[in-house]
Amino acid sequence: MGNGVDIIYEPIRIRAHHILCMQGFQGLGYSEEFTVNMAQIIEEIRKNPFSLIKIIVGVDSICEHCPHNNSPGICNKESELNNISDMDSKVLEKLNIKKGSIVSSSLIPTLAMNLSRQTVKKICGNCSWKNSCLYFQDKMF
Ligand code: SF4
Repeated sequence: MGNGVDIIYEPIRIRAHHILCMQGFQGLGYSEEFTVNMAQIIEEIRKNPFSLIKIIVGVDSICEHCPHNNSPGICNKESELNNISDMDSKVLEKLNIKKGSIVSSSLIPTLAMNLSRQTVKKICGNCSWKNSCLYFQDKMF
């Protein structure tokens, strides 16, 4: 054992469908606190391509500042938005990634790019943000 200090690094937790939302984000969201937090996370990921991201199903680091995560750990839009967790599971399935996987930040845009137009249409077709999502618009047109 050395005398070094142990550095415990907690990866940023990103729910699978937020991989797509992050590509399409243009500053809109559920509240100011939400959009500021989401913008910071996107910037942190962009600036630190070697940092680690844990891909999960369920509330994540972006949800932490969302007004709909008001019983902490539970998204109260879950049923209203066509089972948001199902969107996470579909993204994982299409990308062939297991939930809980840890990936490098630099892979995040590539993962989103790898989904076909048809897949994105199926996963995001009922999302209320699709008309203001640059990722969705880009895939469709
Ligand atoms: S609506 Fe739900 S899934 Fe979307 S950011 Fe808020 S808590 Fe997370």
